Amino acid sequence: MTSVLWVLFDGGGDRPRNGATPFFTALKPVIDRLASLGSCGVMDPISPGVRPGSDTSHLALFGYDPYRYYTGRGAFEALGAGLELRPGDVAFRTNLATVDARGVVVDRRAGRYVAPEEAREVEAAMAKIGEEVERRFGVAAIYRSTVEHRGVLVLRGAVSHRVSDTDPHKTGEPLRRSQPLDDSKEAKAAAEVVNYISEAFTAYSKDLEANRRRAARGEPLINAVLVRGGGYMPTVEPLRQRYNVKGAAIAGVALIRGVAKAVGMDLYSAEGLGGTKFDKFEEAVKLAVELLKRYDLVFLHVKGTDSASHDGDFRGKVDVIERLDAALRPYEAVLEENYVVVTSDHATPISVREHTGEPVPILLYGPDVVRDDVDKFSELTCWRGALGRIRGMDVMPTIASYLGLSEKFGE
Ligand code: ZN
Ligand code: ZN
Repeated sequence: MTSVLWVLFDGGGDRPRNGATPFFTALKPVIDRLASLGSCGVMDPISPGVRPGSDTSHLALFGYDPYRYYTGRGAFEALGAGLELRPGDVAFRTNLATVDARGVVVDRRAGRYVAPEEAREVEAAMAKIGEEVERRFGVAAIYRSTVEHRGVLVLRGAVSHRVSDTDPHKTGEPLRRSQPLDDSKEAKAAAEVVNYISEAFTAYSKDLEANRRRAARGEPLINAVLVRGGGYMPTVEPLRQRYNVKGAAIAGVALIRGVAKAVGMDLYSAEGLGGTKFDKFEEAVKLAVELLKRYDLVFLHVKGTDSASHDGDFRGKVDVIERLDAALRPYEAVLEENYVVVTSDHATPISVREHTGEPVPILLYGPDVVRDDVDKFSELTCWRGALGRIRGMDVMPTIASYLGLSEKFGE
């Protein structure tokens, strides 16, 4: 069985500086050999000039129009955190935070470091509040901590995501009350539930063991939950039905795991793949190669290129690319029997430190893919290749066609 390994460097695309980009500079013999044997091109993740978020871009890359399927970050983050969402569930992102006696937010991250045992204690308190919410409002409320101060809140019932944030988004301002953003009774109900949870948590937090310890040490208390970014779980036809492709995703980042799960991919984790620029890829690549035997498509997400870019760290970005390439080296022969896609979900230029809207390089290798005369994977070279300029939404149909899995259009 021939399958596709898809390596995605998050924010990997860049703009030339002194005539070079991180992809151009990095020593990556495996990827460059695949480039020399296959087709290269450039890709607009969404469409020319659109600056993508990683979530909207991944939706497009998986073949789902983000303008139709993107319903806010909350739902994807909640899925990535391991919550089971049903179509129509409303999800928010949350921060544990510190407010003063007047309810003014003094630290949006409660000192940033929230220990795992503190997070468990908060989850237990939220479970109790959730029972009360169910009794009062007939709405299920599920809270889960993700990383440090971050978490997700899911509401299930006659509620809508059309409510404002309680998060003032800066310190020195009072915790807000959530307001319905339209006239529906579902929006009104959701705002009431969010406000109830917000007040109940602050009241409850006085009894948290974590806060007794924090008070004794003079550390910021965990006494508020900031709710933001409401979205709902869309109805998504799985990849398998839509493109006839059985997919697996290996990723460390909750948001990307959530998008992959939403489109019906099986999720995998690998040691070393946490989602930072210091990640190690040996285990992730080993797992990816094993999964090629069982899946049509194995998607490997590399976050470090984006993290290094937001830090303005050129060398760090080059290092991530080089480490990934080195991890591929033992499997060159296997890769050459399969298809390989290498690309990026958007550019995050070192000089800008934010996502930008120019196209990114893409490589498609396969035993029966046209060999063009591009022999290096980079922004400076791939535009000359046989793939030309495509969009993110074109990748999945292309993969499905090479794998012989797509249906013929017409007779
Ligand atoms: Zn991204
Ligand atoms: Zn980014």
